[in-house]
Amino acid sequence: MKVLVVDDDPISLRILTAVVQDAGHQCFSAGDGDAAWKLLSGIEIDLVISDLQMPGPDGLELCRRIRTRRDRYTYVVLVTSHSDPDEVWPGMQAGADDYLTKPMDATALRLRLIAAERVSALHTQLSAQQAQLEQLNTQLAAAARVDALTGLRNRRALDEDLPALIARCQRYGHELSAVMLDVDYFKTYNDQFGHPAGDEVLRRVSGVLISQGRQTDQFYRYGGEEFLCLLSHDSIAAFRTADRLRRAVAELRIPHPGSAHGMVTFSAGVATWHAWAPGPDALLAAADEALYRAKAGGRNQVRVSEAVPQS
Ligand code: GH3
Ligand code: MG
Ligand code: MG
Repeated sequence: MKVLVVDDDPISLRILTAVVQDAGHQCFSAGDGDAAWKLLSGIEIDLVISDLQMPGPDGLELCRRIRTRRDRYTYVVLVTSHSDPDEVWPGMQAGADDYLTKPMDATALRLRLIAAERVSALHTQLSAQQAQLEQLNTQLAAAARVDALTGLRNRRALDEDLPALIARCQRYGHELSAVMLDVDYFKTYNDQFGHPAGDEVLRRVSGVLISQGRQTDQFYRYGGEEFLCLLSHDSIAAFRTADRLRRAVAELRIPHPGSAHGMVTFSAGVATWHAWAPGPDALLAAADEALYRAKAGGRNQVRVSEAVPQS
């Protein structure tokens, strides 16, 4: 262990140091509370053995300060001049783990060192487990925002991202368009080729989105065979992007006899964020409405929202 002994009496300090070193620990020493606190700020100390009465911050104050630190646990043993409860109680209440009385008894100190080492090891183990748990939580939180089939971000991620993107549009006047796209006649595809083949189509379509998208474009799996793209473009540029994606998927030439086009295609609706329809819901509803018209118009096409300000 790294042990810090604190005492304003040089003789006590020497005795403490000798016993600690003899027990095989690395020992640091300080002659008052200020020097001790300075050392504690620079070195990861496992155990502090401190005199109660010292000039500057005394043992109680040092103990209180140590207990305000959340980064690691430091075992504290206070040294009192006698075992008077009036002296021992405040020390233990200030957060000390144990106490020793003067005159110093080497055996009593060695026993404290054994207990401190045991507790210290437990705290080290505990914080390692805590760090592991936090890492797992972070991984879990990230996984909860990813669609398992396609690897795209999922609806939950969209629900978090979209309000933040809209807030940025409001603040900085950025462009934002949403493209909602839906695979055509997908139910028929599943019926004809089976669900696993349908899954493969969804993976290939998302692969096109990822490979054709620009770095600033964000793609989500919105629902079963529905995807959503958020683009930092106006509606004309967003239409062009959506149509480029549509052609790229058609060019995969995945045979689909149940489709009017003979291959897998998608239809898409484009909507652009406007200050007069500020919320995420308005943007998604406008994209959905445009998608509906793309479907009604024969599928394998892109339509732009015609939403207008409500007077
Ligand atoms: P439309 O052209 O009007 O979009 O017709 P559609 O058949 O694509 O639309 P519909 O909403 O009737 O059917 C969607 C189908 O998507 C039904 C469902 O079985 C399928 N689907 C949804 N999620 C998945 C999935 O994860 N994997 C597979 N293979 N199919 C899915
Ligand atoms: Mg659908
Ligand atoms: Mg569909």
